[in-house]
Amino acid sequence: MTTRHEHWIDGRSQPPASGAWMPTLDPATREPGDDFAAGGPADVSRAVAASDVAWRGWAARSPAERGAVLHAIADAIETDTDTLMRLERACTGKVPAQLRLEVDMSVAYFRYYAGVVRAAGQGSVIEQGAGVHTYTRYEPYGVVGVITPWNLPLNQACRSLAPALAMGNAVVAKPSEFTSASTLHLARLASRAGLPDGVLNVVTGTGPQAGEALAAHPGVRRLAFTGSVATGRYLAGVAGGRLLPLTLELGGRSPIMVFADADLERAVTAAVAALAANVGQVCSATTRLLVEESVHDEMVDRIVAAVERLRPGVDFGPLITEAQYRRVLDLLAGQPGPVTGGGPYTDGPAARGLYVRPTVYARVEPTARIAREEVFGPVLVTLPFRDEAEALALADDSDYGLVAAVWSGDLARGLRLAERIEAGQVAVNGGPLTVETPFGGYRRSGYGREKGLAALYEYAQLKTVSAALR
Ligand code: ADP
Repeated sequence: MTTRHEHWIDGRSQPPASGAWMPTLDPATREPGDDFAAGGPADVSRAVAASDVAWRGWAARSPAERGAVLHAIADAIETDTDTLMRLERACTGKVPAQLRLEVDMSVAYFRYYAGVVRAAGQGSVIEQGAGVHTYTRYEPYGVVGVITPWNLPLNQACRSLAPALAMGNAVVAKPSEFTSASTLHLARLASRAGLPDGVLNVVTGTGPQAGEALAAHPGVRRLAFTGSVATGRYLAGVAGGRLLPLTLELGGRSPIMVFADADLERAVTAAVAALAANVGQVCSATTRLLVEESVHDEMVDRIVAAVERLRPGVDFGPLITEAQYRRVLDLLAGQPGPVTGGGPYTDGPAARGLYVRPTVYARVEPTARIAREEVFGPVLVTLPFRDEAEALALADDSDYGLVAAVWSGDLARGLRLAERIEAGQVAVNGGPLTVETPFGGYRRSGYGREKGLAALYEYAQLKTVSAALR
């Protein structure tokens, strides 16, 4: 029996105004999954109206009170981890370790912003001499629209929701039509944890129907979007027309740069993880491997040996949508001669699902499509370099600028390159990028920042108050 999931609006489930439902698919088996409300402008209007009523009361609470509710939401996610993992698995096919990691990260977002909002996001006093009292304060926008993709559904939602809610905004979230279940369940958990009705609403539906209606709704005062460059460009146009602030987290084609003096064992592990983690369906995946010529062939051999040990359904899941599966297979078909992998599974259980064989291409041309476009699949390409200057030129030879990784035994070189590479974040020798570290793109990877203190300020506007005392 197919389960139907309604919208979550004003603290309760609500059926779609149109009466229409969207089907989903289990990408691990291609069997039909649950149905979701096919939302449109009428559902979005209901959700924005609920948010518009709710945000003022929520914003009037002290940061400590809002923080306490955020902690309670984190507790609720922890307690209900199994349900969230089950819902997420059903429409993504992800393997348990990946699901667990994403739920843990989701908890971490709520805990972090629950704490920091009590110490940050506060204004200051501006000294102008006697007889004047001038100060600034950070205020919420009111209703924030959050549109999220299918690769890390719960995790991406929490990344935006936690800081937006911490600052006193109300949110209308529009998850991907392929992966809405976990965001809906999160909203239900948040209500139970004490978040007032209307502060977090979830409208499900397609991009053109629900997403466009949300971006266009006059009650929405700020947008956060994570997804493709094409949709980001469209939303930037809409936001431009409405003078609406917007965060865009778009794609990447991120380099991992390995010098001969690096700890090759760790660099190999990092390169394999970039391809395998969430099957490469991560915007920050560093799957463009730039390797110093003298260790190139050795690196490739070690990577191929590790990649060939990865088992579908155990170490990695399927691609999440049919369209993405077809796109990756098309990219692979256009680039003959992989060192390993290079297509779909043709027998065994993996052949039933949207699984792609982990693939490595060695010595690709920098101009090849496979080296330039975001793949969003388990595909690693290598490009050899001779010296630091060539490595830097190759790293920056991209339309994107999201993440870069540098591996070198010479830390000064690592930091020198980190200063020059055009990317929003650079990890040297595996330096961790966590909830605390601001995340966002240069160039076509987008603008605005998620995570860290920076994100708190993205969801606030600054007001100055100046009073003459006599
Ligand atoms: P992908 O191609 O990886 O699915 P998209 O950018 O299409 O990425 O999707 C990311 C999110 O943006 C999803 O929630 C999707 O429904 C939404 N979306 C897609 N098109 C639009 C649009 N025209 N307006 C608003 N949201 C959209």
